[in-house]
Amino acid sequence: MSCAEITKHRRSLWLRGERAFGLKSVPTPESSSQSSSPAPAQPTAQATAQSLTTPEVSDSITPLYVATLGGEVLSTSEKVAQLTKMDTTEVKPCVRCRLCETRKNTAFGEGDPDAKIFFIGEGPGENEDLQGRPFVGRAGELLNKMIAGMGLRREQVYIANIVKCRPPDNRQPAPDEVETCTPYLVRQLEIIRPRVIVTLGLPAAKYMLESRLSMGKLRGQWHNWRGIKLMPTFHPAYLLRAYTEENRAAVWSDLKQVMAEVGLPIPPRT
Ligand code: URA
Repeated sequence: MSCAEITKHRRSLWLRGERAFGLKSVPTPESSSQSSSPAPAQPTAQATAQSLTTPEVSDSITPLYVATLGGEVLSTSEKVAQLTKMDTTEVKPCVRCRLCETRKNTAFGEGDPDAKIFFIGEGPGENEDLQGRPFVGRAGELLNKMIAGMGLRREQVYIANIVKCRPPDNRQPAPDEVETCTPYLVRQLEIIRPRVIVTLGLPAAKYMLESRLSMGKLRGQWHNWRGIKLMPTFHPAYLLRAYTEENRAAVWSDLKQVMAEVGLPIPPRT
């Protein structure tokens, strides 16, 4: 792809994400040069590529992070090897809880093993169960738009759930199912070592933070999971059900904090 094509692609990703949050149009370079307000800060391919590949970006949490997680930082190929092995030899054949009786496929998780941002949802739904991938249904479409709104592609983040098998009728995972399954998630986090975790919905936030607080109390603020900054936000499925300006603005505000933390440029929401 040429530089111009990359820029165009990035612009369309950005616009798509903005539309998800209610924006109907964006100023063109021509219209913005005629107005007195500054042109929107577009994420450039270079800025994003740099922020995604340079480990030194915003290292304010590094010491705690290293101290808390321990162990060595793995190479990309070693991460891929360990994740693939865990999925193939442990998760796919897992029969540790009753969810294995009704699942069609496990949904291990997917994305960049070097991702700076790790999204955690609740558990696979019907589409995820059929395809064996997280967030591929309607909620996944909205999650993709949220990610695009951050100037990223889905492949540049990591996405997983607190349970790897679909709870029947999309009920919430039971506490013993969460307890049995989450060691896989913890190991994924230890291997990937993201800079930031974003939990989607209350069950993921509650598990990660061992909290009983409501989403209203938890979201919008930084928390800490073993030295990694954690931002709880609304689940995209909730957002689809309650697609209000207030809820979209809340999610966008949470995501902007995440973008600032990992050094991504923040486009204006006009
Ligand atoms: N909801 C989730 O929490 N996870 C998925 O993978 C899909 C829907």
